[in-house]
Amino acid sequence: NYPALAERTAVVTGAASGIGAATARLLAAHGARVALLARRTDRLDGLAAELAAAGGQALAVTADITDPASVDAAVKAVHEAYGQVDLVVNNAGVMLPNPLADGRIDEWTRMIDTNLTGALRVIRAFTPDLTAAAADGRTADLVNVSSIASHVLFPDYAVYAATKAAVTQLSAALRTELGPRDVRVSNIEPGLTDTELGGHIDNPVLREQLGGMFNAIPALTSEDIADVISYTVSRPRHVNLRQSIILPTRQA
Ligand code: NDP
Repeated sequence: NYPALAERTAVVTGAASGIGAATARLLAAHGARVALLARRTDRLDGLAAELAAAGGQALAVTADITDPASVDAAVKAVHEAYGQVDLVVNNAGVMLPNPLADGRIDEWTRMIDTNLTGALRVIRAFTPDLTAAAADGRTADLVNVSSIASHVLFPDYAVYAATKAAVTQLSAALRTELGPRDVRVSNIEPGLTDTELGGHIDNPVLREQLGGMFNAIPALTSEDIADVISYTVSRPRHVNLRQSIILPTRQA
């Protein structure tokens, strides 16, 4: 139970599915107003309707974080509906593994532009809100969803791992800028979590390998990660849980 979440105004990227959708659900259930950002409008509309029917407040905002104009338009829509944001969950991401020697520049570009540059676009867009909210004495949070892949390495996931290591380092570095301004920066590193993330893998061998991992151990659910994020952002404002690694108990 996270009563401290009432009165918060949140933006969750990648809210169309998986960890983002579960996080939006939990924040809204505890009274936060939640802007839902992703590309699939139908998914966002469905989730916003579900949250509203449950008595929550949610706003569906179709946005592609790889497109600066789309991010600008999303910021405008969020501000018009909700005003200042005090909680940003940078969660949108893609995982497209292949042997590096295959030279899939299309996949590298998509991962870097979504997982790293996209996160930076969102941070740039909402940092003024976070610092202003903190200056007004309110709790302000930037949560970045990285991955255990930034520490535990698998063959053929080099570029994904590099983007996630970059996010982890970005979170740590940003704390030195935002912490002194009372904005918390928290980095979340999930392990194997049952979501749609692996659905975009086009290499049959790697698809099967990932499926094997899900068969071998009970994975985390999106709700498990949402729970940790909600816990993190509902601490007293002088407490910054800066790094959380959440693994299935059986994951090495
Ligand atoms: P999902 O694929 O279910 O969620 C990813 C979300 O990101 C989707 O809602 C997708 O929505 C959105 N998204 C992708 N590209 C863009 C874009 N260009 N602009 C806006 N939104 C975008 O997987 P997860 O829930 O697992 O992934 C969430 C985060 O968790 C990712 O950053 C992932 O790397 C990380 N993670 C996941 C782990 C796992 O085992 N599942 C483990 C460790 C970390 P849409 O397609 O509609 O845009």
